[in-house]
Amino acid sequence: MNNLALQFKNVSFHYESEKGKQSILQDFDFHINEGEFVSIIGPSGSGKSTLFKLVTGLEQPTEGEIFLRNKLATKRLGQVGYMPQHDLLFPWRTIMENAALPLEIKGLKKQEAYEKVSVLLDDFGLLGVEKKFPHELSGGMRQRVSFLRTILSGSKVLLLDEPFSALDAITKVTMQEWLLAQWQRRKETILFITHDVNEALFLSDRIFIFTDTPARRLEEVIVPLSRPRKLKDLNEPKILEQKDFLYDLLRKKVKI
Ligand code: ADP
Ligand code: MG
Repeated sequence: MNNLALQFKNVSFHYESEKGKQSILQDFDFHINEGEFVSIIGPSGSGKSTLFKLVTGLEQPTEGEIFLRNKLATKRLGQVGYMPQHDLLFPWRTIMENAALPLEIKGLKKQEAYEKVSVLLDDFGLLGVEKKFPHELSGGMRQRVSFLRTILSGSKVLLLDEPFSALDAITKVTMQEWLLAQWQRRKETILFITHDVNEALFLSDRIFIFTDTPARRLEEVIVPLSRPRKLKDLNEPKILEQKDFLYDLLRKKVKI
């Protein structure tokens, strides 16, 4: 049996609105292997964040089952690490206090929590800023604090919802390279939402595309690049072909 980090079996999800029942997922199957880096792309409103809410347990499927590490997981809150699109750092807490939050919530004493954060500061490019407040940091740094906090939640499955979409182009590429290096060392499973086709190709083993709502299945692309990767690998002809394919799929879906 494959080691699956996450599996959806026949999952349907709908919600009630004034227009009646709205369906986002219908008999939906999907799985992610342990240690995989998988991206999800799709236009706004296609259901990407809803998929994440189902994984985290903030929403429950109307029908079907969700498995984490091959076990049926009916209560999933706290079992997966979730990094929302905006960093959600507390402005009145220092970087150290923000990063240590999940450990304090788990019941660690402040001093123990701070020690655990301290050993990771260097890897996260945050050495020396631990006493500063979020507004004193650049956007890239704040995202790294947020990522550190997600990692300290202790989960091996991480959901990242468009974490780099608000960064300028150069910071974004630097953060992508940094994230890949962290992922390769730490062996987490990452599920990554993005609007950015280049970002998805650079980072992922596989890319899933929301093409229809309600979604019965997601279109899937396997990225044919070995690792470690360099940004210029994106210029390889087979990748340029995939880029065209992805843009065509997404264009069909967007209504202007
Ligand atoms: P995406 O993240 O791809 O932009 P979402 O998953 O956030 O899309 O949302 C898909 C659509 O479903 C949106 O139009 C959203 O407003 C709607 N939606 C999802 N869940 C609910 C809910 N529980 N109640 C009302 N509307 C919802
Ligand atoms: Mg969203």
